Amino acid sequence: TAKERGKNNFSVYNREMAALSLEKMDLDTQLRGALERNEFSLLYQPKVGLQRDVITGVEALLRWENQKLGFVSPMRFIPIAEENGLIVPIGRWVMETACRQTKEWQKLGLEVVPVAVNVSPRQFLEPDFYDDVLNALNSSGLDPSLLELELTEGMIMSDIERTVALLTALKDLGVRVAIDDFGTGYSSLAQIRRFPIDTLKVDRSFVRNIHHDTEGQAITSAIFDMAKNLSLTVVAEGVETNDEASYLRSSNCDEMQGYYFSKPVDEKRIAIMLSDHLPRYQ
Ligand code: C2E
Ligand code: MG
Ligand code: MG
Ligand code: MG
Repeated sequence: TAKERGKNNFSVYNREMAALSLEKMDLDTQLRGALERNEFSLLYQPKVGLQRDVITGVEALLRWENQKLGFVSPMRFIPIAEENGLIVPIGRWVMETACRQTKEWQKLGLEVVPVAVNVSPRQFLEPDFYDDVLNALNSSGLDPSLLELELTEGMIMSDIERTVALLTALKDLGVRVAIDDFGTGYSSLAQIRRFPIDTLKVDRSFVRNIHHDTEGQAITSAIFDMAKNLSLTVVAEGVETNDEASYLRSSNCDEMQGYYFSKPVDEKRIAIMLSDHLPRYQ
């Protein structure tokens, strides 16, 4: 009967909920010692220019390998680290490591390109955020213009006055600011222009099959044109195919990033790409 089925569904639901929170608890427990156990590493994914596919920058992407859980995707553990506050020290580690590594490449005489670091909402809201950025730059000796912070729309829209002051201070240091996953939030370019930002990264949902998605083409060309008028650099994220790349080359976009050019790779492989000036197609 419907009533029995209802009961069954309810118990299945409970079991799923229990499994979910067990998994969450596991992640939470393992995350707590992860920094001390040196379980984090960074991969780097290049961004390329439109013309000769020259590397114009790299994005640092966090990886976590745990003894008990194996590799855990940032999509799974970052929300938990955000909830329990661990994202603050983890984010600090990411920024310090990315700055130190980029300085290292520079010392090796490789092509000098900026490194982009993803910043989480909780990290950005910390009163110490500016000092953390400053410390990472000072301790590594990296030129501030070689650090780019990737923020999301939601983060900058929540307390506009504070954000403008903070971003202005970061800009005064020489740090660059990008808006990640642009187009997935609720902000418009009219709102975005109030902030001193350098780069818009157009979310990969708009890039997928762009060559035969007329709606996507209309949206992105509006974004590209307006960004141009505001002197913002536009990056198309998640370029996976030659068709997407050719369409974007003929558009008003400035840079591309995606598996078509390179997956995120370790520091040794990026060093090889930077010494060649060109990405290795994988
Ligand atoms: P994101 O910043 O938008 O980074 C892009 C994500 O898309 C990365 O996943 C990247 O590996 C993936 N990607 C790149 N090119 C392609 C493509 O052509 N196709 C597809 N399908 N995917 C592509 P990843 O490394 O798993 O990171 C996921 C998200 O986790 C990031 O999205 C970012 O929001 C967050 N994240 C990663 N590292 C950090 C970090 O150090 N701190 C913080 N706060 N968040 C991070
Ligand atoms: Mg990003
Ligand atoms: Mg993101
Ligand atoms: Mg993104």
